Amino acid sequence: MQKGTINIQTENIFPIIKKFLYSDTEIFVRELVSNAVDASQKLKTLASAGEFKGELGDLQVEVILDKDNSTITIRDNGIGMTAEEVNKYINEIAFSGATEFVEKYKDKDANSIIGHFGLGFYSAFMAADKVHIRTLSHKDGAQAVQWESDGTPEFTITEIEKETRGTDIVLFVSEDAKEFLEEARLSTILNKYCKFLPVNIVFGEKSEFIDDPSGEKDEEGNVKKIETKVPNILNNTKPAWIKKPADLTDEDYKSFYNELYPFTEDPLFNIHLNVDYPFNLTGILYFPKLKNNVEVQKNKIQLYSNQVFITDSVENIVPDFLTLLHGVIDSPDIPLNVSRSYLQSDSNVKKISTYITKKVADKLAQMFKNDRADFETKWDDIKVFIQYGILSDDKFEDKAQKFNLFKDTDGKYYTAEEYQEVVKDNQTDKNSKLVYLYTHNIEEHHSIIESAKEKGYNVLVMDSPLDSHLITKLEQKLNVSFARVDADTLDKLITKDEELPSKLSKEEEEKLQPVFEASVDKEKFTVQFESLSETEKPVLITQSEFIRRMKEQQALGGGMHMMGNFPEMFNLVVNNNHPLVSKILNESDAAKKESLAKQAIDLALLSNGMLKGADLTNFINRSLNLID
Ligand code: ADP
Repeated sequence: MQKGTINIQTENIFPIIKKFLYSDTEIFVRELVSNAVDASQKLKTLASAGEFKGELGDLQVEVILDKDNSTITIRDNGIGMTAEEVNKYINEIAFSGATEFVEKYKDKDANSIIGHFGLGFYSAFMAADKVHIRTLSHKDGAQAVQWESDGTPEFTITEIEKETRGTDIVLFVSEDAKEFLEEARLSTILNKYCKFLPVNIVFGEKSEFIDDPSGEKDEEGNVKKIETKVPNILNNTKPAWIKKPADLTDEDYKSFYNELYPFTEDPLFNIHLNVDYPFNLTGILYFPKLKNNVEVQKNKIQLYSNQVFITDSVENIVPDFLTLLHGVIDSPDIPLNVSRSYLQSDSNVKKISTYITKKVADKLAQMFKNDRADFETKWDDIKVFIQYGILSDDKFEDKAQKFNLFKDTDGKYYTAEEYQEVVKDNQTDKNSKLVYLYTHNIEEHHSIIESAKEKGYNVLVMDSPLDSHLITKLEQKLNVSFARVDADTLDKLITKDEELPSKLSKEEEEKLQPVFEASVDKEKFTVQFESLSETEKPVLITQSEFIRRMKEQQALGGGMHMMGNFPEMFNLVVNNNHPLVSKILNESDAAKKESLAKQAIDLALLSNGMLKGADLTNFINRSLNLID
């Protein structure tokens, strides 16, 4: 037997490990199981290089829970270690790694140790008072040894009897880590970290029904089934992302998606990532159906390092807009042993971000090019993603010019370039700037949209939560103005060459002014007179684009608070040329005059979706009276 003291500067690292890592204790499972997987992989590599000539057998890692003795054993039949190797790898190298970690973090507040770190073997002491390593090297004639330490720097190494090749790590679970002795808890953790490890991970047994070996048949003549216990394998060792895209069908991608997110709606499409220079990265990103939803979908991308699950919060690793996607990213090149704020400035992380952004943009461009009709059917589900990308990432924005679409009220789609052609002859303001008309709600604006269309204008649908931001951006980029269809009378928004003559004189306007003002809240409505076409409505309600946008931005919490709350302000535009307006002017019965004016106003409110409650009831009653 060999006794020794681990060469130590920090007086005792184990209490520190325990204290500082308490919140993330469960990662000891990940660390020890992935060590066991590594040990299996190493042996495989030696075998294929011809350096190991023995029987490989079924390489697997077994996690054994022994509640009676309060132990958890992680068993592999991999490469194993000799006494010298235990000394070197466990007492020297692994220990110095752990010490370095503690040195780095001991003055920090536990909360600042976010994220993950390669603490390795010594993380075992986060959950155990005492640890045994029982190991037999694969080397010919090797002597099995047991390393033992109780969480002090003292250790012993003893020769033992062990028939089978490989390593058992036996944790004598401490009182404050008893939760890990619960089968359900341990199973959850194993499922989280080990789901796609490349070597079978076995935890307990499960029932399976197999053909009765006696061949006995049931009434229908089928061989009877009997229940039998088989090892419970937790993982899929060959997840889709490590396969070649050419070997995968659409169904394979979908079923892998279901494996990642059971019971969710199928994704729209996916992107298979695969790069090995200047960094290593594989993965599959899925586009979920986003509709107009941004928040709920975030944080579904899972990050792996060589098939070991690391985290599902990937902010700072991929650009924010990409977190709307689902799927898996696997890269051994993302540093996991550092804090998140550091990640942002890490050059590999930056390269990875750029790569993923480019891949996603290229995929969208390619889909648009190859099958535009299909791309358009997906548009409503992906537009929020694309808009988010345009707003937050310049590189993406550049590429997105090609596939960012405008949709009009007839359901037709245009690129920015195409749309310019649609409106360029017909929709300009007095400065010859193009005016893009839009609605946020087809139903609410139905009658205004109809009159815009009658005049030969095109109206876009802009109903996503990001549209108001996007509009500001596009106005600068494309040098156009956006105006909501109810932002002003269409004739004012879009300048006509000739102004229509007015049927009312100034004096007549002045006579009518108080009649209309009497029927509205003057704080809220400004009465104006305009010479519009006879076929236009007698009264129209508009709201300045500027004031409305300010209000919307205020509602979104963006700036401008120093200006106080913008009051709700509208224009009530009276059409001088409409016969009803002349009728109101010439009506001698005062009560009837008022009631006609009210009716005209209410019709305008109604067509803007603004007539509600008691006002609506009064309108209905007044209409019935008028019919009488
Ligand atoms: P890392 O895995 O990052 O190298 P660890 O502290 O986890 O650091 O492990 C230190 C070393 O101990 C490993 O590199 C390996 O050589 C050895 N080791 C740990 N677990 C096993 C195991 N189950 N079988 C064989 N060797 C192991």
